[in-house]
Amino acid sequence: MTTGNIPDSSSSNLAIGAEIGSRGLRAVIGDDKGHILDSIHAIDQSESPLATVDGICQLIDQLLDRRHIRINDIAGIGIAFGGPVDTNRGLIIRSHRTPGFDHFPMAGVVEERFGIPVRVENDARSAAVGELRYGSGRGSRNMIYLQLGIGIGGAIIVDGRIVHGTSMTAGELGHMAVSTDGPRCSCGKPGHLEAYASETAIVERMRERLIRATPPETARWLASPGVTLRRIFAAYGTDDDATAVVDETVQVVGLALANLITALNSDTVVLGGYALEIGAPFVAAVRAKIRQYAFEAAARRVNVAPSDLAADAALIGAISLAFESAEASS
Ligand SMILES: [Zn+2]
Repeated sequence: MTTGNIPDSSSSNLAIGAEIGSRGLRAVIGDDKGHILDSIHAIDQSESPLATVDGICQLIDQLLDRRHIRINDIAGIGIAFGGPVDTNRGLIIRSHRTPGFDHFPMAGVVEERFGIPVRVENDARSAAVGELRYGSGRGSRNMIYLQLGIGIGGAIIVDGRIVHGTSMTAGELGHMAVSTDGPRCSCGKPGHLEAYASETAIVERMRERLIRATPPETARWLASPGVTLRRIFAAYGTDDDATAVVDETVQVVGLALANLITALNSDTVVLGGYALEIGAPFVAAVRAKIRQYAFEAAARRVNVAPSDLAADAALIGAISLAFESAEASS
């Protein structure tokens, strides 16, 4: 949106990426090569959407001030939001953390404030765009991105574009059913991937095993630092319970991805979140499960890789979406 006497900034090679999520607020200035030039963050204790938006706008102002850059020299702003988003209409559908975000017109409010194009996208979808353009998914046309964290998010890219679906829920890969019964998911349904393979669910499954185990074993695990994801994966192969929990995790993640690859014939899978922390053995194990379960002709062609951009993926994706938005409105 370029209005009044504001000069056309669509040819600028600078854009702003912003992230609103469980890690707080973060804003960056980046260029059209996917480089972050400067970054600023703040905790978010806001209790209303307007206060959160004001927080992110203040961070953007501070960034511009300290880099001596005028807003007119910025092509656009991309916002990666940790929750469901209607990106076509620039609306937040809801926030799981802050009340009042239902159908909040985020893009419109921020556009009004800065007078440049604003694109809002779900954070996992934004991270997928980052990986596709500048990370592990470079060169891919058909990519699946799976974010393995406290929750499980994701994105489906087909022919170079994010698939949003009928009601903007495409890519919610944590809610794929991997069992007909099993633990109940945060969404209320049984047997979803997130209820087995989120960081919280893995720790919970280990705890349940320990409760049933003999007391010395339980005591050993509950001693500092307690049951953590890193500790469970580190005990793979030496502790029977940890080995079983990790094997089950790899099994359900691999099964979900195998079905997606059979359905979509993707060329690349990018794994984010704890897949990076655990590293190559986890990625290799998931790759083996995909080969085992997916339709052979599709399984043969798929490359499985850990995220390249790690915690910056959503912001780099947001910058890329900001440029896209500026181009569309010029
Ligand atoms: Zn679910």
